[in-house]
Amino acid sequence: MSATDLSHAEAFKAGVRAMVDMALIAAITLEVRADAGDVRQRAAVAALQGLAEGAKAAFLDPPNPLIRIFKMIAEDPASSGVLPCPTCAGRLVWVRDSFNGHLHGQCETAGCFRWMQ
Ligand SMILES: [Zn+2]
Repeated sequence: MSATDLSHAEAFKAGVRAMVDMALIAAITLEVRADAGDVRQRAAVAALQGLAEGAKAAFLDPPNPLIRIFKMIAEDPASSGVLPCPTCAGRLVWVRDSFNGHLHGQCETAGCFRWMQ
């Protein structure tokens, strides 16, 4: 992953964060309006809050980054590869043993992700 890819990833995250903020601000703005009791307003508030939660969960706080990484590796037909580390954004190198299917992985950052299964 190049520095350019990393800055794109950061820009994307910043964009998602801005979208989450805007959705929450819009939801709060609707809520404090005098007609917030209106069914359509309440539905809009719920939709905006759902959107914000969904975007945050999908892009900013994946429940378990390792699950995402293993899923990406499982879908990759190659026997090895490099993925962005979900913790430090460094290079996470993985190798699948062609004999026993065991998966080894290690982040380039000392003390970061490292597993063998
Ligand atoms: Zn790392």
